[in-house]
Amino acid sequence: MLKTISIIGLGAMGTALANALIDAGNRTTVWNRTAARADALVARGAHRAETVGEAIAASDLIVLCLTDYVAVEATLAEVAPMLAGKTVINLTNGRPDEVRAVATRLGGHGARYLDGGIMATPPMIGTPDAFILYSGSSDAFETAQEQLAAFGQSHYLGEDPILAAVSDLALLSAMYGLFGGYLHATALAGSVGFTARQFLPLVEPWLAAMMTALPDYAERIDSGDHARDVMSNLAMQSAAISNIVATSRSQGIDPAFMEPIERLAQKRLAGGFGSDEISGIIKAMRGKEDAG
Ligand code: NDP
Repeated sequence: MLKTISIIGLGAMGTALANALIDAGNRTTVWNRTAARADALVARGAHRAETVGEAIAASDLIVLCLTDYVAVEATLAEVAPMLAGKTVINLTNGRPDEVRAVATRLGGHGARYLDGGIMATPPMIGTPDAFILYSGSSDAFETAQEQLAAFGQSHYLGEDPILAAVSDLALLSAMYGLFGGYLHATALAGSVGFTARQFLPLVEPWLAAMMTALPDYAERIDSGDHARDVMSNLAMQSAAISNIVATSRSQGIDPAFMEPIERLAQKRLAGGFGSDEISGIIKAMRGKEDAG
């Protein structure tokens, strides 16, 4: 049976989502502020809505994928009452306060609201490597689950609409930490003549090997015990971190990326936790460094 679904926002990600829906056999209506971005999708069989209102009227299931919540608010300002009785899935990256405001407003208009965070790049959409976090109306998730499967794996996190957005930002935080660390490392190695390509065979396996520490850190974080069976104590690691910052400066590399972790490590050391594992820094991040 054909299902109808409308996609509002056809940037790089919205276009990938629309293509995945078409591939899965859904009757797909598309709208974008800059209409020409719909042309290729229309050529593949999508129906072009001339207005946002037409896109909303065309389907009971509406997917939004815009730059930010300012764009979401601007796009829905005039048409929010038309969403009564519809399922709205907002896959726009945003802050929890923005998610709550939109969820409350659309809920007030009688829409079932599901918020989402896309953990994939556009080419990954429709492959098993893509996963999307959802939270908000469980009714909405159940209604749309079959169609959402076209995007990749779906993870429903719970009724509170902010769960997906905060988890999305947390995962992006891990990603930017990794990218920032890689870029800093490559700049530092470059200061003694290594090209990025030459450095890659060193940094790539190093990062992969260090990832294996995460299950142990997770145990320590949940138990609150960063002192047992310590292999690489914080005092030792803190000296290395300060050497990185000082050497970056002397090599003409901006140490800005590494300075926050140096500050957090020193805060923890000052609290007397130098013999703990580095995972204890999470207590300084949480403002609970005095708790041991
Ligand atoms: P793009 O920059 O490619 O597209 C942005 C989209 O938002 C366009 O459709 C644009 O319309 C629309 N838009 C922006 N401002 C307004 C406005 N005021 N009114 C109406 N429409 C507006 O971004 P992406 O498609 O890459 O990203 C969309 C969302 O997906 C973001 O929240 C992003 O964080 C998320 N995402 C993206 C990933 C990626 O790798 N690309 C990965 C994971 C999530 P117009 O064409 O008219 O400018």
